[in-house]
Amino acid sequence: MHRSERNVRITSREGRAHGGVLPLSARLRSVEKWLTDQQEKKGRWLEYLMTVIMLFIVAALTIPSTSVSAKLGLPMNRDVVVLDAGHGGVDPGKVGAGNVLEKDINLIIVLKLKEYLQANGVTVYLTRDGDEGLYTDSDSNKKAADMRARCAFIEEKRPDLVLSIHQNSYSDASVCGPQVFYYKGSEKGQQLAKCLQDRLNAMPECKKARAIKANTDYYLLLNVSCPIVIAETGFLSNPAEAQMLGTEAYQDRLAWELCLGVLEYLNR
Ligand SMILES: [Zn+2]
Repeated sequence: MHRSERNVRITSREGRAHGGVLPLSARLRSVEKWLTDQQEKKGRWLEYLMTVIMLFIVAALTIPSTSVSAKLGLPMNRDVVVLDAGHGGVDPGKVGAGNVLEKDINLIIVLKLKEYLQANGVTVYLTRDGDEGLYTDSDSNKKAADMRARCAFIEEKRPDLVLSIHQNSYSDASVCGPQVFYYKGSEKGQQLAKCLQDRLNAMPECKKARAIKANTDYYLLLNVSCPIVIAETGFLSNPAEAQMLGTEAYQDRLAWELCLGVLEYLNR
């Protein structure tokens, strides 16, 4: 027994079995001990491997992402944007061919744009995210209450910019094309409008390239202190454009181009 134990100790120290010397029980214990050692070593290797993998994942999530953002010219800090889907609730806005409602198109574009901007690190607030206006049942003048509430919401968020989405309408049904409005005299508003208009004009679907337009009487432009523009993304009075504005593909295209324009302005 003593001899076996001694032999086992030697076996484990030397790392190989002295088969001819040991009795069977001791040899079995020796093999068992060797296997346990191997499993322990394997366990430590797995631990080591897992640590290396975790470090790699942490590095991949931090260092490369910021350098990729920098290379792509994406915003590094948390820029804040308010998106305003025009109208809502009792106020449908303009009604297009095929009974397309402006309030619905505005909201769909805003929700898509929100996703794109958030994916690029921008903090986004919406004045509305459903089919309701910013008024209460007790408000006698719902439109006025709605506009006041939108302005108050925007001022509270103190965003880097505000983009209000609307659809246009005109007595001549042939008139078409997106157009961006800014408050006259606002340099930043004008720059933002230009970034957006350039993107919209470059769309293959755009039948009429338009110029940005200064305005002095739109309620939102007058009553919001940060850079703000109103993008009328098409004419619902033009049957072909109204039909296109009702399709998901074009709504998505508009949201994407507006996202690129906003990012360009934030990184200018
Ligand atoms: Zn409108």
